[in-house]
Amino acid sequence: QKPVPSDIVISRSCVPKPIDRLATEVGLLSDEVELYGKTKAKVQLDIISRLRAQPDGKYVVVTGITPTPLGEGKSTTTIGLVQALGAHMKLNVFACVRQPSQGPTFGIKGGAAGGGYSQVIPMEEFNLHLTGDIHAITAANNLVAAAIDARLFHEATQTDKALYNRLVPLSGGQRTFSPIQINRLKRLGIEKTDPTTLTEEEITRFARLDMDPDSITWHRVIDTNDRFLRKITIGQSPTEKGHTREAQFSITVASEIMAVLALTSSLKDMRQRLAKMVVATSRSGQPITTEDLGVSGALTVLMRDAIKPNLMQTLEGTPVFVHAGPFANIAHGNSSVLADKIALKLVGPEGFVVTEAGFGADIGMEKFFNIKCRYSGLRPHVVVLVATVRALKMHGGGPTVSILYNSCIKKLQLLCKGCSNMRKQVENARHFGVPVVVAVNAFKTDTESELDLICTLAKEVGAFDAVRCSHWAEGGAGAVALGQAVQRASEAPSDFKFLYDVELPIADKIRIIAQKIYGADDIELLPDAQHKVELYTKQGFGNLPICMAKTHLSLSHEADKKGVPTGFVLPIRDIRASVGAGFLYPLVGTMPTIPGLPTRPCFYDIDLDPETEQVNGLF
Ligand code: ADP
Repeated sequence: QKPVPSDIVISRSCVPKPIDRLATEVGLLSDEVELYGKTKAKVQLDIISRLRAQPDGKYVVVTGITPTPLGEGKSTTTIGLVQALGAHMKLNVFACVRQPSQGPTFGIKGGAAGGGYSQVIPMEEFNLHLTGDIHAITAANNLVAAAIDARLFHEATQTDKALYNRLVPLSGGQRTFSPIQINRLKRLGIEKTDPTTLTEEEITRFARLDMDPDSITWHRVIDTNDRFLRKITIGQSPTEKGHTREAQFSITVASEIMAVLALTSSLKDMRQRLAKMVVATSRSGQPITTEDLGVSGALTVLMRDAIKPNLMQTLEGTPVFVHAGPFANIAHGNSSVLADKIALKLVGPEGFVVTEAGFGADIGMEKFFNIKCRYSGLRPHVVVLVATVRALKMHGGGPTVSILYNSCIKKLQLLCKGCSNMRKQVENARHFGVPVVVAVNAFKTDTESELDLICTLAKEVGAFDAVRCSHWAEGGAGAVALGQAVQRASEAPSDFKFLYDVELPIADKIRIIAQKIYGADDIELLPDAQHKVELYTKQGFGNLPICMAKTHLSLSHEADKKGVPTGFVLPIRDIRASVGAGFLYPLVGTMPTIPGLPTRPCFYDIDLDPETEQVNGLF
């Protein structure tokens, strides 16, 4: 076999077709497409109403077994599968993938456009600014952060009357409320529209949010792995008169606004979600929202282009939507509902939309079903579960360091034992009543007997089918068998159901996920988590779905426990709320929300060739 060149060399060797041509090929009208250069375009949301009567295509979600830290090829398989279905089996297809964060691109992991001969191109566009959606989120998120601290400052330094007069200024001799302020008055139960008629008590209630600084859950964000922003002190300039506060940054993709973008169904819905985001609690225990801060309309303005999915293409010219990329632990880790919905209409009833869920099936897929599908109303036809020899050997007791995988003696024995993890993840998918196809992503070092063993065992443990694929080395041609298996599975009966009823108490929902999906004996709510259960239930957020923030490297909460850990109690340290996005996220252990840079980050290799204007060094 010929060696496979680097991702960037492969990506660059292929000339992408003009994006307007691709848009026409997939059935978009020129008015529905906004071009961003020659290889990217945004698609307007009007298309959903134009194609309302069109039946949806088949909906496929790609997930994986519990991975090694290197990833087992979910993105690569998503792209390989659509190349097979589209370019080789001549079906209408769309891949829907997440936009990667720039943090890992310049840090350790590199890009996320797939790999080998299964990639989204041009990969440098995909991995860097794309069409600016992440930057829009940074801007919107930090506007909220600035609004919070400015409001704390103004409330601390002004009387109620002075605050009120500034919030409702005189204009042409009159004071008038803005529509956002009228909404706030209504929420406070003050049915007045004339600012001169408020009583003193009403003025105080209206003007003072009275945020408890210790309750602020909103962080500033930046799309860089800047570890020194994990904990900072703000307000140190004398102009802030000693109003300093300990604060922190997260990476932009961890912003709740990213999760809102991924889960929203329309501009109107996004406006409502952006208004409902809770940033803090008042000293009297009331949730303080972005609408209370008066900033929700401005956020919608900043996000108005980001809401439109981005059209790109694979190496084999099939269409891809790249849209949203929420963190897969403190958020749900799936690309956007809107991209999936538009793609399902565009491919039509015989076509396929392949979407990817981050991390392993215990996390990304569980959230895909219980959060994303619950909000979108979409029902998947097939789960593709990606497995690799190297990860299964690791689950069988082999090393986690890749260079050692193939020096494992008794390879088949390790593999056989490690397949317990695949069995559990197949079972996890089967809880939702959807047929599972196991895709064994072959590496050049794998042996025939290893690959065969995984396929045989997968079918024994309840997979609808299991096929080996070589799309990384061969492109779509290497995933045709997978495409055929997916097509057959999409015609099999499926009986979709959620894992839990959202109306159950918070702790019960967490327990169901912990026991059924992770295999825990029980959960333990630590004091902060217990307090939040009470607070969120009282505030009326108890009926939101659950988004577990747990390590993806084990089914349990301990990353080094491989295979199928048993006999453990899952500790819930704390619980946070993303009310606008629409979920509660229990923290299982500590979750860093901004990675750091290693001693030698990827950026050492990245440069621009001034002659050709080519980007070098991405991988
Ligand atoms: P995930 O989406 O599961 O995190 P990716 O698809 O991003 O995984 O793949 C992780 C890395 O492994 C990428 O660099 C990709 O190019 C590489 N990779 C995936 N499949 C193969 C394969 N079969 N052989 C060699 N490298 C692969």
